[in-house]
Amino acid sequence: MRQSELFTKTRKEAPKDEVSKNAGLLIRGGFVRKEMAGVYSYLPLGLRVLKKIETVIREEMDALGGQEVLLTTLQDPEIWQKSGRWQDDAVDIWFKTSLKNGHPLGVANTHEEALVNLLRDHISSYRDLPLYAYQIQTKFRNELRAKSGIMRCREFLMKDLYSFSRSEAEFREFYEHVALSYMNIFGRAGLGGRTYRTFASGGSFSKWSDEFQTICDAGEDTIYVDKEKNIAVNDEVYDDDVLAELGLNKERLVKEKAIEVGNIFPLGTKYAEALGLAYKDESGNVKTPVMGSYGIGLGRLMGAVVEALSDERGIVWPESIAPFRMHLISLGKNAESEKIYKDLSKNAIETLYDDRDARAGEKLSDADLIGIPYRIVISEKSIAEGGAEIKKRDEKESRVIGFEEILHYGKKNETMVK
Ligand code: ATP
Ligand code: MG
Repeated sequence: MRQSELFTKTRKEAPKDEVSKNAGLLIRGGFVRKEMAGVYSYLPLGLRVLKKIETVIREEMDALGGQEVLLTTLQDPEIWQKSGRWQDDAVDIWFKTSLKNGHPLGVANTHEEALVNLLRDHISSYRDLPLYAYQIQTKFRNELRAKSGIMRCREFLMKDLYSFSRSEAEFREFYEHVALSYMNIFGRAGLGGRTYRTFASGGSFSKWSDEFQTICDAGEDTIYVDKEKNIAVNDEVYDDDVLAELGLNKERLVKEKAIEVGNIFPLGTKYAEALGLAYKDESGNVKTPVMGSYGIGLGRLMGAVVEALSDERGIVWPESIAPFRMHLISLGKNAESEKIYKDLSKNAIETLYDDRDARAGEKLSDADLIGIPYRIVISEKSIAEGGAEIKKRDEKESRVIGFEEILHYGKKNETMVK
């Protein structure tokens, strides 16, 4: 893409009311726009990142045997009354609306009730199970505080997966698969080595749930990490008895600020029972499926990457989810840049081409802010030295390479935006 045609502009300062680092950088780089507290629109660069995160997550969900669905935002209160989650004192983040005739409607903040109700049409026998359904869908939550930029929004994209199993054992086996898959997702998204599976409190059916917590200063949670065992405990459950039960040694735990990028939750038979979802086992006995739910916030993940990997000059995208792989910058007009841009495009290498008529300093500081992994500068000087200057975003010094070498750095991205 030619940067001269990109309608977004970078800006020197974040808006005064933006307190978070992630949204500050993303707004300055032209990735998102703040509409109001906790509500952000995605612009072309931001949407490319979001789509790549979506691709990584979808690949992992499909590998688990998940079947993708898309449920509605508008919800009939009736099913939520059955589970006891319609009342505001049970769920304090509801957005509610109503039909013209006054009939109340819920604006979905999660989808256990809706999916369980839907599956009553499709599950009747043990042969229909296990079943795994997921979606990547917009959730609405009237969050009390929204000071973490795109990491805590009132409208946000969530991947939510739900599992329906025939027994506790069958459920547990899948639950552990999801836990591994989540570590893959966060690793592939660039948060490997700083994201920990974390013991957290469970609901009425399980003592524990598991959160996936990424260490970062802007995190809203506090966790205690055992780096050797590669696990952590959320401070909401941290006490001597719990540590003993988990076999963790207090001396070895390091207290950290962290952001919950995902969580997985045993639900037992709570929702299936409340909504009347049942099946017949091999002997014809009526049974209730055992459920789990598994969430990841896509914007939360993107914000966590910005928080964890940026430096004083701007964002540092991991290759897997960068909006483009290459940032080709021509300093002054030259035919070589145009030719290289055509070659990169022909080879389907995702490139942002800074062909703008702007000062060198502005182009280079914009490149640092936007954070594309490979920066390639072509100028009279680089041409005289034999080609182009190349620098990875997290390197200090650039070096000159021949034009023919550029393509070697440009492998196709596995999560290419179509
Ligand atoms: P939190 O404790 O941070 O409020 P939660 O326990 O309410 O999260 P879930 O309801 O399980 O989270 O949602 C699943 C995932 O969705 C979370 O792990 C997080 O990644 C993301 N998420 C939750 N709330 C928000 C939000 N307000 N904005 C963006 N992402 C969110
Ligand atoms: Mg919440």
